[in-house]
Amino acid sequence: MQFRTDTKSGNQLSVLGFGCMRFPRNRLGAIDMQKTEWLIMEAINAGVNYFDTAYIYGGSEDALGTILEKNKARDKVYIATKLPLVFLKGPADFEKYFTRELERLRTDHIDYYLMHMLTDMDMWEKLKSWGIEEWIARKKESGQIRQIGFSFHGSQDEFLRLLEVYPWEFVQIQYNYTGENFQAGKVGFEKAAALGIPVIIMEPLLGGRLASPPPSAAAIFKKADSNRTPADWALRWVWDHPAVTLLLSGMNDPKQLEENIAIANTADPETLTSDAREVYRQVLEVFNSSYKVRCTGCNYCMPCPRNVNIPGCFAAYNTSFALGWMQGMQQYATSATLTSAQSGSAGNCVKCGKCEQHCPQHLPIIKSLEQVQGRMEPLPVRWGIGLVRAVLGRKKAKGRD
Ligand code: SF4
Ligand code: SF4
Repeated sequence: MQFRTDTKSGNQLSVLGFGCMRFPRNRLGAIDMQKTEWLIMEAINAGVNYFDTAYIYGGSEDALGTILEKNKARDKVYIATKLPLVFLKGPADFEKYFTRELERLRTDHIDYYLMHMLTDMDMWEKLKSWGIEEWIARKKESGQIRQIGFSFHGSQDEFLRLLEVYPWEFVQIQYNYTGENFQAGKVGFEKAAALGIPVIIMEPLLGGRLASPPPSAAAIFKKADSNRTPADWALRWVWDHPAVTLLLSGMNDPKQLEENIAIANTADPETLTSDAREVYRQVLEVFNSSYKVRCTGCNYCMPCPRNVNIPGCFAAYNTSFALGWMQGMQQYATSATLTSAQSGSAGNCVKCGKCEQHCPQHLPIIKSLEQVQGRMEPLPVRWGIGLVRAVLGRKKAKGRD
């Protein structure tokens, strides 16, 4: 296993982290503890020392804690888990959820603690008004939290702002060779690195989609090197960035684990050749040819007075053609509609035209958003969005009271 230094703490972290959201499950939907224990212990034996879970990953914290305790392995690993912002109703909930997480994980401290899906400044201001900074300071002083950070799924602008408002000790963002302009993106990644903030990468395989890309893209990879898999290409692209501290992979079968460990053992930074870059370029062309809106994600059209996340809507719409509707919907739900009461879906557009004059690609944004709404917001989804907005709106109103 190769290790990289967390420059804030000095910890040596395995370049391959274990994402614990997708533990194997049995037919009834419960975590298969036998298979999960095997995967976790094999990973630890191979040198993996970073495990990322969350309160909202059903049963994951409990399973991880149980397995580490049973195998006396707690001290061999760093545990990352997250404060479930979506469930918070007031300041007392910081302690309530944190205590529950310590119990589930059978530990007295969390090595890497994240604000889960901290998406915009409004959310941060609300947390601040509830005393989150003082609470974090107390937890760090007591040693119950070692490193503090946030995971992010919002727009690039909000990410850049959030980086500056608190002395974060790490951040967790989505990044892969198809997503340099998605969410925090390359600009956000490089800004975090420039600020000296360790960057942890999630979704390096886009939930497994980049391990099984469109057939014509897979053929390009195969022609370039028949011994390497699409997953190998995708993971090495991430590890090639020296500022990446580690990447998370949700490994739920022995073959994936074995392959990822083998790649991690040999993936050095700054080793991609110009030939390899040409291969990624060709593969991206295939992805882009499936894309319907040629949005570059430059953000020049933002902000929208109706809070429509314009590049986020187009990115998710394009993904729904390149990688499938479900994958597109997942992006749409996190970046465009459901992450906060402020986030806006395509249906929020009132056709004021303010955005179009700023688009350097001269895109017909209004017309394209109508197409996005048609594809990404069928009636049941519109009802769901309305429901989530009503709940978030009520929570926000309560927060002001
Ligand atoms: S036209 Fe629609 S997307 Fe563009 S700024 Fe106006 S409301 Fe926002
Ligand atoms: S200005 Fe145009 S290209 Fe840039 S993000 Fe907006 S829609 Fe996309």
